[in-house]
Order: sequence, then C-alpha cells, then structure tokens
Amino acid sequence: MTILASADSGSIARAAEILREGGLVAFPTETVYGLGADATSAWAVARIYDAKGRPSFNPLIAHVANIAAARREAELPEAAIKLAEAFWPGPLTIVAPAAPGGSVCELARAGLPSVALRIPDHPVARALIEALGRPVAAPSANRSGHVSPVTAAHVAEDLSGRVDMILDGGRTTAGLESTIVSFCDAEPTLLRPGAVAREKIEKVLGARLAAPERAEIMAPGMTASHYAPNARLRLEAHEVGAGEAALDFGGRLTALAAPGAIALDLSPKGDLVEAAANLFAYLRELDARGADKVAVAHIPERGLGEAINDRLRRAAAPKV
Ligand code: AMP
Ligand code: MG
Repeated sequence: MTILASADSGSIARAAEILREGGLVAFPTETVYGLGADATSAWAVARIYDAKGRPSFNPLIAHVANIAAARREAELPEAAIKLAEAFWPGPLTIVAPAAPGGSVCELARAGLPSVALRIPDHPVARALIEALGRPVAAPSANRSGHVSPVTAAHVAEDLSGRVDMILDGGRTTAGLESTIVSFCDAEPTLLRPGAVAREKIEKVLGARLAAPERAEIMAPGMTASHYAPNARLRLEAHEVGAGEAALDFGGRLTALAAPGAIALDLSPKGDLVEAAANLFAYLRELDARGADKVAVAHIPERGLGEAINDRLRRAAAPKV
C-alpha cells in the first residue's frame, strides 16, 4: 500500500518514521522527485533498486542536511567546501572519497570507495532529511528507463504499490538533474553536466574542470575501482569443491559444503532483496576470512537477481 499525502509537518514526520524503519518515501527536490531510503541501511537501499527495477547497481546520491553532515561522510578538500558553500543547497552533487567513519552504506555507493553528496534546495526534502537525521539515498522516483517525474502523479503512475509513501509537494522546478563534480582525482572533474553551469563552478574554483579521464566513470558499474574481491568466483555452482568456500542463495550449496568450510548464504529463504543487501558485505567477508576460491550458487535472473548477477559476473571476470 502506498500512502499519498500532501507534504506538511505531520506527513513529513510520518515519512521520516517510515524511512527510519527501512521504508521507501518519494519526495520532491528542486530537480525531480526522488525515491528515498535511509542511506545507512543496505536493506533499505536494496529496496530502492528493487522498486526501480534497475538491471545493475549504479551508485546513488546521498542527500544530507548540512555541510557538517557532508564532512562526516566524505573527505572533502578545500575546493569542494568552496563549491558546497557557493551552491548548496542546490543542484550540485559532489563526489569525494568516502570518509573512514562515514555512514553511507556500500550498496548505496555500488561498491565504490567514493560517495556522492548534495543538499537539495527544497523545503520538503530538507525537512525530511533533518527529521530522519541521517543521509537519504535518492535516485529519481521512476521505474528504470522511464522519464524522471516532476509531479507526485508521475511518481504514482510508476511506483504506486512499490513505495510506502509519496509526499506531494507540487511540481518540481528545475526539472534538470544535478551537476556532478568529482574530487577523487588530481583535478576536480565534471562527471555530469546539469542544472549548475560549468562556468559558474569554474569561476568559484578559479580553475577549469577536467573531463573524466575514463569514459567508464560515466557508467559506474563498469569501473575497475568498484570493490572486487581477491577470491576467484565460480558462478552457477551446483556443488562445493575441495578447498572452496560457498556463497549461497537459498541454502542448497551450504547443505553440500564440507563441515568447517566457509559458507555464507546471501538469503537462506531465497529473497533477492535480502541477497542484494548482503552482497557487498559478504564479498568482503569472504576476503577477510581468506577464501581464495568461491563456489557461487545460481541466482535467479528476475527482479534484483539481474543486478546481483551483473555484479557477480564482474567480480568473477579475470582481473587484468
Ligand atoms: P542520479 O541519476 O541523478 O541519481 O545520479 C546518480 C549518478 O551520480 C550516478 O549515475 C553516477 O554518475 C553519479 N555518482 C553517484 N555516486 C557516485 C560515486 N560514488 N562515484 C562516482 N559517481 C557517482
Ligand atoms: Mg533517473
């Protein structure tokens, strides 16, 4: 059931409660409607990918309440702070190395060592983020491949029954997506042109924005800087070989593993949202426990299974 409510202090408080419990809330920003979840919870973020029907995990922008919150999440160089002070709240997204103590979960970052942050310039969005007191991960509130929504009615057409609540704050004004600037390389880089013009950013920086060095940054699922396990993965395994660990789904491989073998089950009950929420943590745990060969169970290619399999295939590909 999707609650459709006009945005006021009561419905925003209710929406924050839904987010705190791991639910999904669509809300207006100055660009387009966002599909929000608690950015610190892999479970909640997995539901975003599921609701959108995305075939891969692309990294999401975490929306924060203020610059202090942004500094807790990312290592922001002076130049990034300058941009934040000049353009936040507003349609500028800053990408920077994730801070060691940051709270944005790895699934929201799609396994990247960087995090994307912004403060939206919309009273409803800001009130919601402040009420939650945590970063809110939010891509556009449409099904994958559909047009970004600028009214609550557009959101409802796409996501009714797939989100817990839609906060109606009227038509959004910018319509254009945020400009994305990265501070992960030697020079600040324009990852995506958007609602804040390049010239304005360069004026504040007193420097030119570089073009992304690798086109693959624009398709974040492809970049080699995504977390890749050291272990060699063998996909679609029906048994666990000698010396292999198991990355299971639905309990089948675990039952076949030798006693004492490392066996992690992405979802013993066969739930793809649960499997997505556990994926990055389990890949890391296999490395931490020293697994060098891993038998990976068959994951059905429906719903979030497509994105999980995409990620596993990349992780299994020979390293160059
Ligand atoms: P949007 O589609 O407006 O929600 O913006 C999401 C886009 O932000 C992604 O497709 C990436 O291009 C970019 N992005 C988000 N997080 C990161 C990150 N950690 N590193 C690099 N780019 C990112
Ligand atoms: Mg979109």
